[in-house]
Amino acid sequence: MFGKLYVVATPIGNLEDITLRALKILKIVDLIAAEDTRQTLKLLNYYDIHKPLISYHRHNEDIRSDILIEKLKQGDNIALVSDAGTPGICDPGEEIIKKSIENNIEVIPIPGACAMINALIASGISTKEFCFLGFLPLNKKLRTQKLKEIENSEKTIILYEAPHKIEQTLKDLKQILKNRQIVLARELTKIHEEFIRKDINELIENIQNIKGEMILIIEGNLNKKEGDNLLNKLTLEEHFEYYKNNGLIKKEIIKKIAKDRGLTKNEVYMYFLNK
Ligand code: SAM
Repeated sequence: MFGKLYVVATPIGNLEDITLRALKILKIVDLIAAEDTRQTLKLLNYYDIHKPLISYHRHNEDIRSDILIEKLKQGDNIALVSDAGTPGICDPGEEIIKKSIENNIEVIPIPGACAMINALIASGISTKEFCFLGFLPLNKKLRTQKLKEIENSEKTIILYEAPHKIEQTLKDLKQILKNRQIVLARELTKIHEEFIRKDINELIENIQNIKGEMILIIEGNLNKKEGDNLLNKLTLEEHFEYYKNNGLIKKEIIKKIAKDRGLTKNEVYMYFLNK
């Protein structure tokens, strides 16, 4: 009989944030596949769990997953853990999970901490609909596309970010969002846990030399939903003024008005030309 693959969430800081079921699974499996075995050992030692560990990280995911599949086929039960939180969420996991499914091996999630969910629920920003984008790409073109997606999203946006890149990311966000409420959630579940709730400008001023693990929760584009209807009730001149007051240049304004009203850019352009 095949073994089972347990995808086990582990704490994101405070070692006590682990479920009873997760501990039970870690105790009964034959092998624990860990992103960084040294990191996982700290957790296992804390709970006096002694199990064989095998490393499973981004750079060996391909080869290691084949080895793990063989072990699962031989009947071993395996727990997959990452350094923190839920495996597969900006962490390795996808490969072995896909291969397990292809090989008819049962994949069982063991729920627990996930940094983004905890940042979101305490942010004070709408939790009704949200979109998790992980880390923003570094490639310029892809990054611009993602920033556009953020600009247009009516949903709350969640981003992970590294401390040495946070200032640049906020500056890029400011360029595109002008000003929007953002919550920076830092060092969740740890001694220096902090939620900085400010608009982008204030946030940029407040994050000099900021350290630790952090997440950005960005308010959705509220103007969009309400604005779409309301703006279309204005005259075209008022509509134009609205965007002008938001700092947009003529070309951008024409594009926006055309989009809001379902017109072509040329139609809007000609209207203002004939005025
Ligand atoms: N798998 C993890 C999860 O379930 O959230 C995420 C791993 S990802 C490689 C690491 C990123 O998650 C960090 O750069 C940070 O953005 C976020 N993160 C992880 N732990 C955190 C914490 N305690 N406080 C704030 N952000 C955290």
